[in-house]
Amino acid sequence: MKKLLIAAAMTSLITAASCSKSADTAPADDFDYTVDRFADIEVLRYKVPGFEDLSLNQKILVYYLQEAALWGRDILWDQNYAQNLPIRDMLEAVYTNYDGDKNDADYKAFETYLKQIWFGNGIHHHYSTDKFVPAFSRDFLSAQLAKLPEGAAPANAEELVEIIFNPTVDAKRVNQAQGADLVATSACNFYGDGVSQKEVEAYFDGIKKPGDLTPISYGLNTRIKKVDGKIVEEPYRLGGLYGEAIEHIVANLDSAAAYAENDAQRATIRSLIDFYTTGDLATFDKYSIEWAEDTASQVDFINGFIESYGDPLGMTGSWESIVNFKNLEASGRTEILSGNAQWFEDNSPVDSAFKKEKVKGISAKVITAAILAGDAYPATPIGINLPNANWIRAAHGSKSVTIENITQAYDEAAHGNGFNEEFVIDEPTAKLLDDYLFITDNLHTDLHECLGHGSGKLLPGVDPDGLKEHGSTIEEARADLFALYYLADPKMLEIGLLDNPEAYKAEYYKYILNGLMTQLMRIEPGKDVEEAHMRNRKIIAEWAYEHGKDAGVIELVNKDGKTFVKINDYEALRGLFGELLAEIQRIRSTGDYAAACEMVEKYGVKVDPTLHREVLDRYATLDIAPYKGFVNPVYTPVRDADGNITDITVDYTEEYPEQMMRYSRNYHPLR
Ligand code: ZN
Repeated sequence: MKKLLIAAAMTSLITAASCSKSADTAPADDFDYTVDRFADIEVLRYKVPGFEDLSLNQKILVYYLQEAALWGRDILWDQNYAQNLPIRDMLEAVYTNYDGDKNDADYKAFETYLKQIWFGNGIHHHYSTDKFVPAFSRDFLSAQLAKLPEGAAPANAEELVEIIFNPTVDAKRVNQAQGADLVATSACNFYGDGVSQKEVEAYFDGIKKPGDLTPISYGLNTRIKKVDGKIVEEPYRLGGLYGEAIEHIVANLDSAAAYAENDAQRATIRSLIDFYTTGDLATFDKYSIEWAEDTASQVDFINGFIESYGDPLGMTGSWESIVNFKNLEASGRTEILSGNAQWFEDNSPVDSAFKKEKVKGISAKVITAAILAGDAYPATPIGINLPNANWIRAAHGSKSVTIENITQAYDEAAHGNGFNEEFVIDEPTAKLLDDYLFITDNLHTDLHECLGHGSGKLLPGVDPDGLKEHGSTIEEARADLFALYYLADPKMLEIGLLDNPEAYKAEYYKYILNGLMTQLMRIEPGKDVEEAHMRNRKIIAEWAYEHGKDAGVIELVNKDGKTFVKINDYEALRGLFGELLAEIQRIRSTGDYAAACEMVEKYGVKVDPTLHREVLDRYATLDIAPYKGFVNPVYTPVRDADGNITDITVDYTEEYPEQMMRYSRNYHPLR
C-alpha cells in the first residue's frame, strides 16, 4: 500500500504528459503554471483554491502548520547526504556573490547545477539517486571561491569541490544492487562510518520481539553509528540529532494546536509534539492512530519521518510534510462511490462465487495541498495512503487521499506541450480528451482506490500471497479494470458523477494509447517492462487489442510512417474490459499462479523494439521534462494594531531560485 506514493508519482508522469482538461472544473485563466525548465526538470506552480473560504481559525492553523513544514527542510538535506548542507552553503555563497558575465557558459552550467541540487535536496538526483555531473569546470568554481569575501568560503572547500567533481566519490545515494553491502555503498546519511549491512541487520534481529503483533517501526527515526565497535541508534528528537530543527517544528506545532479544529485534532498535534520530544516510537504509533482516526477535521497534515525509500534497508523515514485541507466538493465524489459500493459489487461482470456478500467502500478524500516540504518538495506524489504500519492500518484504518490541485497543475501545464498533436489520432479525439480526460481520469482513480481494490474475495483456503511475484500486477489490473468497466456504466450518470454518456471514451482512449505505446517512453531501449503498474496497463491494453482484433475494436494505423491508436468500437471495448476483469478476478480468487504467469509473460513484459524506438524518437522531439515539481505559495499573516492575526494572504509570484534562497536564509537551523 505504501508503494502508492511512488506508484502515484509515476502515474502522474503519464497523466502529466497527456493533455487534458475538464470543461467544468478547470476554468480558463492566465495563471502561469510553468516557472522554470532545466536539465530533466520542469518546475510548476500550483494554486490553492478554497483557501479563502476557510475560517480565520483554519487559515491560522494552516499558517503555523506550514511554518512547521518549512523548518524541516534541512533535516532532509542532511539525511540525504552528510555534506549536502556545507555544499549548498558554499554554492549559494558563489551564486549570491557572482558579479561576472551571467551568459558565460560556465556560469550558466553552474546555475543549472545549483537548480538541480535544490531540486534533489542534495547532490544526488531525487529519482535515480545518482550524483549530478557538473557541466562547469573545476577551475571556474575554484576561481569563484577564491573571490568570495573573507569568511564566506568554507574552510574545507577543497574537500567539498572534490566531492562534486570526482565521479567515484559517493556516486549513489541509495544503492539497491543485489549482492553489494547496501549500507556501505550508499551515500545517504542514515548510517555512520564503518557500519556494515550485516551489523545493522544483526542489531535489529537482536532487538525485535518475535511474535509481536503490534511492532514499532524499528529504526524509523534514528541514525545508526558505531561507538567503540558497537552499533548504537542516535534518535532524531528534541535535544538529540536534528534537535535545533525539531525545536522550531515543535514551536510551530504548539502554536498550531491553539487553533485546532476540535479536541481530537489538538490531541493528535500534542502526540506528535510528544514524539518529537521523546523520540519514542510507541508514541509515534499513538500519534499515527489518532491521526488515522481523525476524519472529521477539514485541515490535515503529514509531518515527520514517514517514507523509507531513501534508506537502502527501508527502515529510516525521510523527513517530509504536506499541509492540506479537504476539498469538500470533490470529496463528495468519493463519498457517492463508497455509498453505492454494494451496487457496484453486485453488478460487476465477475463470477458470483468471487463476489463479496457485504462490501465496504474505503473512505477516501480529495485534498488541496497548501504546502509541500521535505521529501515531498519540490517533487511530490499525487496520492498518499498512510499510515504505513500494517497493524495500525488493519485495526484503525488508513487515509487514502488524492491531491487534486497538484493533478490539476500537472494537467494545465501539459496544455500545448505538443503531446496530443504528436500521439492522438485526430481532432475529434483530441477534443474529447480536452473536454473529459481530467474528470474521467480523476474518477478512474477514485473507482480504483475506493472500490476496485476492495472488491471481490478469495475462495476459502486460497493463500493471499499465492500469486507471488505477480501478485501486485494482477491486483493493480483488477482495480484498473473495475474502474474502466464502470466508467462507461449508465450508473455514473444516474448518480451524477458524469454528465455525458460519451465522456468515458476520453479515459478509454488515453488508457489504450498509454498501455500500447506512450508509457514506453520511460523504458530504456532493449529493456523489459518491470514495474507492476506499467505491466498491468500493458496487459490490459494488449489483451484488449488482441481479443478485439478480428472485430476491429482497436486498430494500430500508420499515417505518414507514424503509428496511431484508433478505437473503432468503444462499447465492444467495454465488453472486453468486463471479460478480462472476470478472468483476472478468477485468477486472484482461486490463486491460479500458472494463469497469472502466463498472463504477465504473454502481455506484460516484452516490448516490440520497433514501436519502442518510434515512441522514444517521437517523444524526444517534444522536449517534455521527464520530472516535474513545484514551488510553494507564500503565506503571510495580516496583523492588526495589537498584533492579532486578522487574515492570512497567499501569494503565487515567487520564482524558483528566490524561493530556494529564501528558504536557505530563513529556515536554516542546522548551521
Ligand atoms: Zn492500486
